[in-house]
Amino acid sequence: MALMGQMMSMPLLISSVIQHAARHSGDTEIVSKRVEGDLHRTTWAAVEFRARQLAQAFARLGLAPGDRVGTLAWNGHRHLELYYGTSGSGLVCHTINPRLFPEQIAWIANDAADRALCFDLSFLPLVEKLAPQLGQVRHFILMTDRAHMPAESSIPGLRCYEDLVEAEDGRYVWPEFDENTASSICYTSGTTGHPKGAVYSHRSSVLHAYGAALPDAMACSRRDVILPVVPMFHVNAWGLPYSTALVGCKLVLPGPHLDGKSLYELFESEQVSFSAGVPTVWLGLLNYVGANGLKFSSFKRTVIGGSACPPAMLRTLMDDYGVEVIHAWGMTEMSPLGTLSRLGSQQLKLPQEQQRHLLEKQGKAIYGVDMAVVDDAGKALPWDGKTSGNLVVRGPWVIDSYFGHADSPLIRVTGEDGRDAGLWFPTGDVAAIDADGFMQITDRSKDVIKSGGEWISSIDVENIAMAHPAIHEAAVIAVPHSKWDERPLLVVVRKPGEAGAALTRESVLGFYEGRIAKWQVPDDVVFVDEIPHTATGKMLKLKLREQFKGHKLPGG
Ligand code: ADP
Repeated sequence: MALMGQMMSMPLLISSVIQHAARHSGDTEIVSKRVEGDLHRTTWAAVEFRARQLAQAFARLGLAPGDRVGTLAWNGHRHLELYYGTSGSGLVCHTINPRLFPEQIAWIANDAADRALCFDLSFLPLVEKLAPQLGQVRHFILMTDRAHMPAESSIPGLRCYEDLVEAEDGRYVWPEFDENTASSICYTSGTTGHPKGAVYSHRSSVLHAYGAALPDAMACSRRDVILPVVPMFHVNAWGLPYSTALVGCKLVLPGPHLDGKSLYELFESEQVSFSAGVPTVWLGLLNYVGANGLKFSSFKRTVIGGSACPPAMLRTLMDDYGVEVIHAWGMTEMSPLGTLSRLGSQQLKLPQEQQRHLLEKQGKAIYGVDMAVVDDAGKALPWDGKTSGNLVVRGPWVIDSYFGHADSPLIRVTGEDGRDAGLWFPTGDVAAIDADGFMQITDRSKDVIKSGGEWISSIDVENIAMAHPAIHEAAVIAVPHSKWDERPLLVVVRKPGEAGAALTRESVLGFYEGRIAKWQVPDDVVFVDEIPHTATGKMLKLKLREQFKGHKLPGG
């Protein structure tokens, strides 16, 4: 019989993370730019105390363990208090993306059966409009103080967050329960189909926070000042509200101000050393610092993920600004971290260009995530850096089902040796993995361009366009072609100014010469003022495909 370990059995609970921060980094600062317009300063100890007051307030309102509390809020200290006050007391924090269409927000809040909805002042008009559709919400809580409460509102029984918190004495003991209890829910941003809820557990969130903080992952340290640009309504801001508490570092929360100027000023005034966000955010920041001839005085490192980081962006940040870029890949269903591109001692011996090439990939899996590429029958493909296939993952912070869906999304995988390798989550991404385990996403399965039976990676073609000095943003989509089935169409947003204005179809296509195989060069270029983005800042190719469905390619 197996010998059992004789160690204490302590559940991995989110309350333990905030308690640790309060105890060991109690006076470390949390700085928030608030919707009300001020810059607010608090500490980990105060956040933990107020989270306990919140837990008391929710109990007084009659909420019971397992009840969902929706949030519509930017990155700020009240949102942070809600993260811990809800999950810590056994409630489930349901962050909702306020950039979604109002109907989608209502749909998601109803699907999750939210019992309370907490929202920033800026979302008051939105919630006033939505309230009649939110039949299951019993308490509407405006995340502000008495002075900012509206004189009147159409929302029945609208409550003031600060009043609720201040009415409690904070003498609350965090309860102990099963670590597999749900802690939070996040809906997939829905680039395709109806949004679906990923339900995280205390255990998965704490393990993910550990993994994310490792030196070869996000490398969070108590010495850092961390500013997550990635919103707290999107996959728990990539776990940073937990990882920063776990290491006890200073946290800077930018509120709704995510434009280049606001971010730059906050980076400088708070001496931010580390940040994380989607590529679109860095486009804005780089445009601002570039146009104003500025440099960063403290910014050392940033995680870029959520969409492929264009190599040109990586190079600009590293070479012109001395900011180390950590390219990361993940998804809502994975809490979200899967892989990050960081170099080991073997890679650091390689010539500079080869190192760069590796940094441009999505990187290596962190412990806790197992990955494989498989063919359409689920058979594992070799890790040779060339063979691309469907990327599948498994691990303790990967979902095994969606909220309210009985059917399993998992697929059965067979190893290269033909043996059954169990059930894995299909990511919908297409990737190749090299012998050292560096993974590179070439596409999402539905974005792949199939030309004459060969696959063209839209990411490769986009990255070249993004390296053109006069191109602001570029997307490649497949359009039907009589001979080749599909051919790539390049959609371009010009940079403002003369160089952008001078761009032509021919000059853009000429730029591809020698950079990519001839058959992969787009057949045509269209110029647009703007590329539509999803609520999480990804290019909305579905919309582009609709828009250019009937586009006549030359010779097509
Ligand atoms: P949704 O799947 O609803 O768009 P997610 O935020 O969960 O929302 O997106 C996950 C997807 O985003 C991944 O499956 C992948 O297609 C894409 N993605 C994330 N990070 C990267 C990256 N570094 N490079 C390329 N694609 C990425």
